[in-house]
Amino acid sequence: MDIAALREKLIGQDRRALARAITLVESGRADHRAMATELLDSLSGQPHKALRIGLSGTPGVGKSTFIESFGMFLIGQGKRVAVLAVDPSSARSGGSILGDKTRMERLTRERAAFIRPSPSQSHLGGVARRTREAVALCEAAGFDIVLIETVGVGQSETVVSQMSDLFLLLLAPAGGDELQGVKRGIMEMADMILVNKADGDLKATATRTCADYAGALRLLRKRPQDPQGFPKAMTVSALEHEGLQAAWEDMQALKSWRQENGHWNSRRAAQAQFWFEEELRQGLLAQLDAAPIKAQIASLADKVAAGQLSPSSAAQDILSALKLSARG
Ligand code: GDP
Repeated sequence: MDIAALREKLIGQDRRALARAITLVESGRADHRAMATELLDSLSGQPHKALRIGLSGTPGVGKSTFIESFGMFLIGQGKRVAVLAVDPSSARSGGSILGDKTRMERLTRERAAFIRPSPSQSHLGGVARRTREAVALCEAAGFDIVLIETVGVGQSETVVSQMSDLFLLLLAPAGGDELQGVKRGIMEMADMILVNKADGDLKATATRTCADYAGALRLLRKRPQDPQGFPKAMTVSALEHEGLQAAWEDMQALKSWRQENGHWNSRRAAQAQFWFEEELRQGLLAQLDAAPIKAQIASLADKVAAGQLSPSSAAQDILSALKLSARG
């Protein structure tokens, strides 16, 4: 494959080149990985920056509906919009949250939109890397907005917030005590909480829920990257296209403030460091999982269990062996 040619097409906003490039970063083959790395490195100085928006919420809260209607809204503002997903469940089931494209019927047909389902990788680390690299490719391909969707379970919010400039939490109208259901750690990641389904019979409940969350957000520790009034909670209706304009204005205000105050660049820099360290950790873990070290670990583990060797001295043996193999 001619990587230089692929790069040129990608920068020229060729959608098929973008799809091919993403397929390349998703591939598990070593030669593909080398080409993917070459491509990504060649793009790293690209001046065009997209606004990367992470979006999390439990199944049924309205993520697809929101992405469809917010995506169409953004296209109406002249933006090009890419949609990616981090789906921890696809690792297990082989399915994917964006796989069913009928959920975003209008957006799928738009020339200015690009939708890519979550890669089906065996572990979240793999999904995270592929998605992060796909974000960089979409950015290089000139997309103005990259929406990264995830289901609100476990670790995936951390992964998505570490690759986005803004992180949105989508919630449903709920009775008062359900507020406890959102983990504090997830609340702390959110830049904006959008209480969806604020329409029809649910409108009053949504307004109440929104006030509850606004109160909960005020109790959180103040973060240096937030201007006055952020993080904030607001109501939207993805179905009725309500509140999208207001939400977008707030996102832009937050973006501008962070850019003017140096937080935008420092967030991206911190994210780059986070992923560097994460890759390093993953790489080391992969080394531990490879023969012959793996067999050596198993045999030392038996000795530790039998009380013939202390845990720390067994670990030291392995670490020394790794050091030797790294030098050799
Ligand atoms: P996801 O699982 O988070 O992607 O949720 P979906 O977008 O598939 O929506 C789940 C259900 O909620 C569907 O029946 C939607 O029609 C409904 N829904 C989504 N957004 C809204 C909204 O703004 N108002 C109302 N009333 N229903 C909505």
